[in-house]
Amino acid sequence: MGFEPSEEIRGTLKRIRQFVDEELIPLEPTLLQEGFLATLPALEEKRAKVKELGLWAPFLPQEHGGMGMSLMDFAYVSEVLGRSPIGHYAFHCQAPDVGNMELLLHAGTDAQKARYLDPLVRGETRSCFAMTEPMHAGSNPVWMSTTAVKDGDDYVINGRKWFTTAADGAAFTIVMAVTDPDASTHARASQILVPLDTPGYTNVRNISVMGHAGGGWASHSEVTFEDVRVPQTNRLGPEGAGFLLAQARLGPGRIHHCMRWMGICERAFELMCARAAQREIAPEKPLGTRQIVQAWIAESRAEIDAARLMVLQAAERMDAGGAGAAKTEISLIKFFGAGVLQRVLDRALQVHGALGMTDDTPLALWYREERAARLYDGPDEVHKISVAKRILRSYEGRQ
Ligand SMILES: Cc1cc2nc3c(=O)[nH]c(=O)nc-3n(C[C@H](O)[C@H](O)[C@H](O)COP(=O)(O)OP(=O)(O)OC[C@H]3O[C@@H](n4cnc5c(N)ncnc54)[C@H](O)[C@@H]3O)c2cc1C
Repeated sequence: MGFEPSEEIRGTLKRIRQFVDEELIPLEPTLLQEGFLATLPALEEKRAKVKELGLWAPFLPQEHGGMGMSLMDFAYVSEVLGRSPIGHYAFHCQAPDVGNMELLLHAGTDAQKARYLDPLVRGETRSCFAMTEPMHAGSNPVWMSTTAVKDGDDYVINGRKWFTTAADGAAFTIVMAVTDPDASTHARASQILVPLDTPGYTNVRNISVMGHAGGGWASHSEVTFEDVRVPQTNRLGPEGAGFLLAQARLGPGRIHHCMRWMGICERAFELMCARAAQREIAPEKPLGTRQIVQAWIAESRAEIDAARLMVLQAAERMDAGGAGAAKTEISLIKFFGAGVLQRVLDRALQVHGALGMTDDTPLALWYREERAARLYDGPDEVHKISVAKRILRSYEGRQ
């Protein structure tokens, strides 16, 4: 098993890497000290530059203004962009917009595409995805209280969602709501487009996450829908297809996230090695002369390489056969990759000592924010259970 980007994508990766290093990493001190909103004006200038360079929205088909990359090629790009916390945003392939754009491309009607997708693709609007509810276990995605009841030509939506990433300032959400409580478990809910200026919608709060409520794209909101009325033509796909669409959205989304994590790992690894080589614990005795630090470096290298190969294998399988063909690989990389990310960040932070706890490096931000990698898009345990069940099935009936 070996993965090498094509000659063509290698050139693009070099340009993207240069942009990340020269244009985005210099914005990080503002991001880390003052937050996302303070960085936004400069970041918008960088986004304009990315567009001019023809590197905008790499995953989108060319006819929609993107670069038309395969999932595999985009995986390589995602890794390079992951080196900076603002990489994906600058290149307009940030979650949750990336998933919503894919969803609209896949299931949107022409009218939905014209109203919601086109401005989103151009970067004029942002969006969010409201599925998880505070009163229900998000790891059981078919269980929810939010309802969308037909009334004339409309749906009337009622419910409460939370951890709706990037709701603050978004133009619309895709909300998961029960449209037929009597249908079979996986056919009860539908996905419905809701403009966020619709009466009855409220952004209750940006949830404080490990001490940071964030703002704009870099935030997670609790939101309510009280008699929110939208036309039935705002439904994405057939009635009852909400769960299937959510699964389709999550397949490539997990690959994007996992390769982004590999980019974070690489940057953390570089920071760790540089610090180990330079920080002297006694005159002419750098930290890297200690065997325990050497072990952390070797273990991190092995784990990153292993996780990266696993993600690329999953991407290759998914490009060839769709999300269904790569179910096991996707679950494996989701929990394995998140674990590697957490361990590498922890070691890098430890090597930096007190400096690791400061916002003078991106390590503390990642350590804080990426803990969620083991929760979102399916907690570790759910993926482990699903892999093990599939493996055990092949042993059933054997003597
Ligand atoms: C930073 C962040 C961003 C998010 N963004 C969004 C978003 O944009 N839109 C959205 O809709 N949601 C979002 N979420 C919500 C996310 O999808 C849920 O947190 C996730 O699905 C888990 O649901 P839960 O938090 O309700 O945990 P629960 O379902 O209550 O699970 C709690 C814990 O129980 C364990 N567990 C769960 N099921 C099993 C099982 N079968 N067997 C054994 N153990 C189990 C796991 O350890 C799990 O962590 C986000 C969450 C975070 C943290």
